[in-house]
Amino acid sequence: MEDLAVRVMALYGQVDGAIAAFQAAVPLACPAGCGVCCTYPEVEATPLEMLPLAVELFRRGEGELWLGRLEGEGAAGAGAGANAEICQFFAPDPLAPTSGRGRCTVYPWRPALCRLFGFATVMGKYGVPELAACARHKDQTPEGVAAAIAALAADPNCLPSFGAIAEQIIALDPSWGRDQLPINEAAKIALGRVGFWMQLSDQTKLESLDTAF
Ligand code: SF4
Repeated sequence: MEDLAVRVMALYGQVDGAIAAFQAAVPLACPAGCGVCCTYPEVEATPLEMLPLAVELFRRGEGELWLGRLEGEGAAGAGAGANAEICQFFAPDPLAPTSGRGRCTVYPWRPALCRLFGFATVMGKYGVPELAACARHKDQTPEGVAAAIAALAADPNCLPSFGAIAEQIIALDPSWGRDQLPINEAAKIALGRVGFWMQLSDQTKLESLDTAF
């Protein structure tokens, strides 16, 4: 189970590295403090993508707590608060809770979509990768979006593609890397599996996955 989590983190490291290299050359970045994409109830992940986070939460001794929260027991999550539809790991800005500003409380462990959103391609109708641009980027940094489109015209593979990353996740373990689910549901399944595995294998302590970065 931990080996699989390390392999997921290694894939995330590759994704982050590719995006960082792109951003070193192209001025495309999210506005400071923006968390609008985290407020979409449509955010999805596979349970496998949530495995590193589940391992980390159990490592901290918070696995059962989060499992209970995601199953609807007790207080809601990090601050997504009353809105159980959105990611429970999103903490809205307390001074402007409905502004879309806020932060991810589990940033190093976030799933693929959260890493790729605004910085990945989809296949265009002519079979050429196209930027799946974020609406906020288009509004607030149109010059960055234009630069990204120009960079992709010169090198269509200079950003990761959603399809290729999804295939790599499935290849890691098809049994739980294939089904895209609402993010809270995916997290709940991953936490349940890690908790069950810990019981079965009599694990009482998990190692940090930090070194996978
Ligand atoms: S995991 Fe983090 S980045 Fe992804 S939707 Fe939740 S709060 Fe946002």
